[in-house]
Formats: sequence, C-alpha cells, structure tokens
Amino acid sequence: MAIVIVVAVLAVVVLASFGAVAVTRRRQRRPQLEPPARRPVSPPAPRRAAPPVARPAPTPAPAPEETLAEAKAEPEVAEREAPPVAPEPEVAEPEVAEPEVAEPEAAEPEVLEAPPRFRDRLGKARTLLATYVSAVLSRPGIEAETWDDLEEALIRADVGVATTAAILDDLRGKAKEEGINSPADLLEALKADLKGSLARADRGLAFEEGAPNVWLFVGVNGVGKTTTIGKVGLREAGRGHTVVMAAADTFRAAAAEQLQLWAQRVGADLVRGAEGGDPGSVVFDAVERAAARGADLVLADTAGRLHTKVNLMEELKKVRRVAERPPARVTEVLLVLDATTGQNGLIQAREFTEAVGVTGVVLTKLDGTAKGGIALAVESDLDLPIKLVGLGESAADLVDFEPDEFVEALFA
Ligand code: GDP
Repeated sequence: MAIVIVVAVLAVVVLASFGAVAVTRRRQRRPQLEPPARRPVSPPAPRRAAPPVARPAPTPAPAPEETLAEAKAEPEVAEREAPPVAPEPEVAEPEVAEPEVAEPEAAEPEVLEAPPRFRDRLGKARTLLATYVSAVLSRPGIEAETWDDLEEALIRADVGVATTAAILDDLRGKAKEEGINSPADLLEALKADLKGSLARADRGLAFEEGAPNVWLFVGVNGVGKTTTIGKVGLREAGRGHTVVMAAADTFRAAAAEQLQLWAQRVGADLVRGAEGGDPGSVVFDAVERAAARGADLVLADTAGRLHTKVNLMEELKKVRRVAERPPARVTEVLLVLDATTGQNGLIQAREFTEAVGVTGVVLTKLDGTAKGGIALAVESDLDLPIKLVGLGESAADLVDFEPDEFVEALFA
C-alpha cells in the first residue's frame, strides 16, 4: 500500500513539473510573436515610394510558429501599408486638371528666348572684311594700297559702288582735316563714318492707339516674309498687343499653312481666303475680325510672285487701299529684303516702294551672308530705314537694327 501511495505521489510531482515547463515555454514564445502584430503601426507613415521597401526585414531563424504567424501577418501588413499608397489619385489630381490649364496656355504667345547678338551672327561678313583690315593694319602708314584695300572691302561686302565712293571721299577729307596718319586711326574713322551714315531716328515700328493698326509685309517670294510675320507677331504679342494675321497671299496655300503654324505659336487669329481668292477681301475680313475682338494689330502677308509683276503691284495697291479703310489704318508697309541677294534686292525695293509706299525695311538672312554691306546701300540709295534684321530662322532671331552694334560686329 505504501508503495502505491509513493508511486502516486511521484506521478503527481512529475506531471506538475511538465505543466510548469510547458507554461514557461509558452511565456517565452509570446514576446517573440508580438512584434509582427505591432509592426503595422510601429513605423512612421511611409512615403509614396516606401511601400516596396517597407516590408520588414525577415526575423532571423524564426521558429516554425513564427514563420506561420509572419505569413499570416503579411496580408495585414500589406493592407495596412496600402493606405499611404491609396491617396495617389489625390496626388494625381492636378494632372487631371491639366487640360484646363493647357487651354489658356495654347492661347498664350510663346515666350521668346534672348535675342542673338550681331557679333555672334555676322561671322561671314566679318571674315570677308578681316582680310582687308589686316592688310591695312600691316602697313606702316596710310598708302595708296590702303585706299584700294578699303574700296575693295566695301564693294565685296556689297555696299555698292556709289555708296562706297561716297564713304571713301568723306573719309579722305576727314583724314586730311584731322591729320590722321596711322592705319588703326583710319579704321576707327571709317567705323565712325559708317555709324554716322546709318544714324537716324525713325527705326521704331509705328503704332497708333485706338483703331486696328495694319502692318503690310511686301517682298518677293522666298525673302522671308512669312517667317518675319511670325517673329514680329511673337514680339508684339509679348509686348501686349492682340494680333490678327491675314494670309493675303492667296495663290500659295503653303504660305497660309505656314502662317497658320505661326498664328498658333503667337496665339493669334488667322484669316485666310479661298485659294486664288481676292487678297483685298482677306485683309478686309482680318480688319473686321480685329475690330470685333478688340485686336489692335493686323499683320498681313502678301503675294510675292515675280513673274506677273505688273499684276502684283496693282494687287498690292488694292490691298493697301482696302487696309486703309476706317476703322483701320496702315501704319507700316515693311519691305522684306533678303540680304543674300545683295544689290539685286535694291531693284526690287524700288518697285515695291513706288507701288505701295514702303515705310521701312526688314533685312533678313544677315546671318548667312558676307554681303552685310547691303544695309548701308539700302539706307543711302533707297533712303529707307532698316527697322528689323533677321539673324537666323528661330523665333527670337529677329532684332531691332542697331547701327553701332552692326558696324562693330563687322570690324571686330
Ligand atoms: P516668303 O516666301 O517670303 O514668305 O519666305 P519664308 O518666310 O517662307 O522664308 C523662306 C526661307 O528663309 C525659310 O526657310 C526661312 O526659314 C528662311 N529665313 C527667313 N528669315 C531668315 C533669317 O533671318 N535667317 C535665315 N538664315 N533664314 C531665314
């Protein structure tokens, strides 16, 4: 009996100690299982980019139960981590609103880059003159060859025979009068003479407040009329004018299409007629459109075909008459001349001037020619002010004509 009692006591003791061990083990495990449950709330709110890396680093050597807990916890983690990603639509909202912003943007004129400098674009003309300049400077004094060199330089730069003769006569007189005897001083005196012959006050583009101003652009095909209208449109729109463009060269669909592209960049209305239609009525409609929408500037492209010259001049006269009708007024008739054609451009210029009364010249493509001297011939032979100069094909490459900068760039 005593043996039975002893065995029973031992059994109770053994069972009790097993129970204690099991409880202790469970207690030891619990803290290890807790972190996965807390993880979703422990890190600070992740940024948008965080979710892919927000997954916590796996706990090293987890117990089988932990692995299971981890696997189970993952979806929770993903679910809880998801909300920071969910606000994406909110972040994307401005993108949704973009089309509304884009609309006014499309009507805004393009912002022009800084204009080019004469010095940077007159390389060809400068290179031509440089040869003569160094020949003049290489002599100890002013000799007969010095005058020959200067004459040849000016003629080759397309200043023209008459204008060159007038410039050099003046320079000889000055050299004598002022006792100039060094080549360097003579060149300085020449530059001063050239600047002096280009000095005039009326280079601004005329604009009258109130009624729509019409600026007519005339010139033969290919000189750069349409491109110039686009560039002028951007400049003037940037200065606060509301521009309407008139595609009055109705014989060339390509010209109207080219102008359409510029009108879009400028944020201007474009009025164009039927192919072969009456250019006068295109200008008339453009003026009406300008008056109706309170636009103050109409830029009118015109035809430049040379093969029917008489008709062309008559057509241009009519366009001008139409454009003069109240409420509009023609404040500029700008003759566009291609500098690369040199002296030939002067003959065209006279014809246009007689027909439509040119008020100023836009000299294009000065960047691509050594014949920069044509600017001097235009002003002295035609007595017309050069108002603008094209120094390249981009929108910003149209600049005011600055005689001093121009002359310095030729001799720099
Ligand atoms: P339009 O027939 O008189 O209307 O002449 P366009 O405007 O179509 O121009 C004829 C070509 O001359 C085009 O390729 C223009 O990009 C180019 N052009 C116009 N102005 C300039 C300029 O100042 N410099 C250069 N390098 N090219 C120009």
